[in-house]
Amino acid sequence: MTYINNKAVKKNTFDVIVIGSGISGGWAAKEFCDHGLKTLVLERGKDVKHVVDYPTAMMEPWEFEHLGQVPKKLKDESPIASKTYIYKEDSKHFIVKDKEHPYIQEKPFDWIRGYQVGGKSLLWARGTQRWSKYDFDGPARDGFDVHWPIGYEDLAPWYSHVEIFAGISGNKDGLETLPDGEFLKPHEQTCVEKHFSQKMKEHYHGKRPVIIGRCAHLTDPQPIHYEQGRGQCQHRNLCQRGCPYGGYFSSNASTLPWAQRTGNMTMRPNSVVHSIIYDEKTGKASGVNVVDAITKKERKFYAKVIFLNASTINTNLILLNSKSSRFPNGIGNDNEQMGKYIHFHSFITGMSAEYDGMLDSKNEGTRPNGSYIPRFRNVKEQETDFLRGYAAGFSATRSPVTNSEGLGMELKNNLNKTEYGNWHVGSHFMGETVPKETNYVKLDDKQIDAWGVPLLRVNVELDDNDRKMAKDYEEQMTEMLTVAGFKNIKANRKTTWNPGLDIHEMGGVVMGNDPKTSLLNKWNQLHHCKNVFVTDGACMTSNSTQNPSLTYMALTARAANYAVEELKKGNL
Ligand SMILES: Cc1cc2nc3c(=O)[nH]c(=O)nc-3n(C[C@H](O)[C@H](O)[C@H](O)COP(=O)(O)OP(=O)(O)OC[C@H]3O[C@@H](n4cnc5c(N)ncnc54)[C@H](O)[C@@H]3O)c2cc1C
Ligand code: SF4
Repeated sequence: MTYINNKAVKKNTFDVIVIGSGISGGWAAKEFCDHGLKTLVLERGKDVKHVVDYPTAMMEPWEFEHLGQVPKKLKDESPIASKTYIYKEDSKHFIVKDKEHPYIQEKPFDWIRGYQVGGKSLLWARGTQRWSKYDFDGPARDGFDVHWPIGYEDLAPWYSHVEIFAGISGNKDGLETLPDGEFLKPHEQTCVEKHFSQKMKEHYHGKRPVIIGRCAHLTDPQPIHYEQGRGQCQHRNLCQRGCPYGGYFSSNASTLPWAQRTGNMTMRPNSVVHSIIYDEKTGKASGVNVVDAITKKERKFYAKVIFLNASTINTNLILLNSKSSRFPNGIGNDNEQMGKYIHFHSFITGMSAEYDGMLDSKNEGTRPNGSYIPRFRNVKEQETDFLRGYAAGFSATRSPVTNSEGLGMELKNNLNKTEYGNWHVGSHFMGETVPKETNYVKLDDKQIDAWGVPLLRVNVELDDNDRKMAKDYEEQMTEMLTVAGFKNIKANRKTTWNPGLDIHEMGGVVMGNDPKTSLLNKWNQLHHCKNVFVTDGACMTSNSTQNPSLTYMALTARAANYAVEELKKGNL
């Protein structure tokens, strides 16, 4: 990296640098800018402005060249990216092409990435549940991994803080295992979902609730949402294209334009962060090395505080690549645990069934949400021969059956007939994996990418605990679906699913009280370099069973506000 003179240093100096502009980076930017700090957001991908850069948002089905599908040639060029359900003609431009961003799979790992302003916040499915005290306290019981340095009480006010701003719809279910949040009005369950909920309540005496999902949609926008320029969700269910109404929470619709309006944010797209600069004299990080994504020109930017929000695996990569004489193995990595204990959610199975009751009803329209079965296994004590537990998605819909038999007039008549078959019931499994030292990412010694960054080697796999858990889900769900009177019940084990495809990868730079076993303290600061904070999924000590992003948002807002206070005290 070349030396930059003092004038240039001043020009390139900010109060805070945020690396990554996705869900967590957007929150860091918002919090710092609200406090009046000059904040530089470095984003490796292209700019995506709310509404104007959503090219497919208002397209009709017939306007797509391939009727919404992706041609085989493109799929073959991106065999990993094309495995995700979101890789369709209307949204593939927000997903990284495999060939352009290679990595080395020591074991199969489906790494799904969204490199642009807004990151994966444009693509996510918006499921947002709080963790409970059992989720934070549970892993300590196993004696397996590092314990959380914080509990539910520490995060609860920050959950409220982010929920109110983002807008989360949900029902106050009063569950101890899935605390209620600051909800906008809930979506409605279909009649068969209500039937299933009722049957489960009766049969399991309230121990297996089935609730409407909690999700980041403006079902009932409040003044704070209008102030962001967002409006009511129209239930079009085309969210992965980017929502012109701002109906769901994305960085692009919410936190980033908010931060921009304060006048304190500088957004720099096409800026690949290569590494963090460590100042041996002060014992602090002083800035970052950046490579321009297009010109490949190198630059340095400086700040008092650095927030890593590049998403789990990339945050690991940047930190491991930040080498100095003090930190030859990556900044803050004295215990050589960085990159290890990668964990994720296992999605290797699901269920389907049919219901031939309630045939006088059908569901109308679309709903960008489904029902949810919170974890009921091993919550308060160990009950099974596997550790941890699982949550499940659940939905029941009755849509028209298309009859495309016949030719000519017969075909036309068949297509014009609206016939409804049985109700279709589906469930997906979301299992907690146990963080293990043997599930790791590390830098390759020789190979680099187009921006001079070492390629990442990924070694992450499912184990017997995960397989036992999946089997238990299949058995329990079969029992539950049978109790509800459903027929044709099938477990659908996925043979081509690999870790990563859950898109909930976490860990590698975990929080903990002990610097011998963890990398971050309870405020998400590196134990050994206090002005570097990690608040994306890399910081997660365990993964529990909830969709993770709401927890990243709350942790980010909490850590950013702490950093502001520490800056005021002159501690950073
Ligand atoms: C199809 C799909 C469905 C999902 N559903 C849900 C769900 O229902 N609920 C849920 O909680 N989560 C869901 N997720 C996961 C959710 O999207 C992620 O947890 C979340 O986006 C992570 O936030 P982040 O800020 O860590 O990363 P991201 O949102 O990915 O943002 C990271 C940003 O950092 C940038 N970056 C990376 N490396 C560098 C670098 N070296 N220099 C500069 N910038 C860099 C990237 O380009 C990106 O913009 C889903 C994801 C997908 C794709
Ligand atoms: S369902 Fe709601 S959030 Fe999604 S695209 Fe439609 S209006 Fe926007």
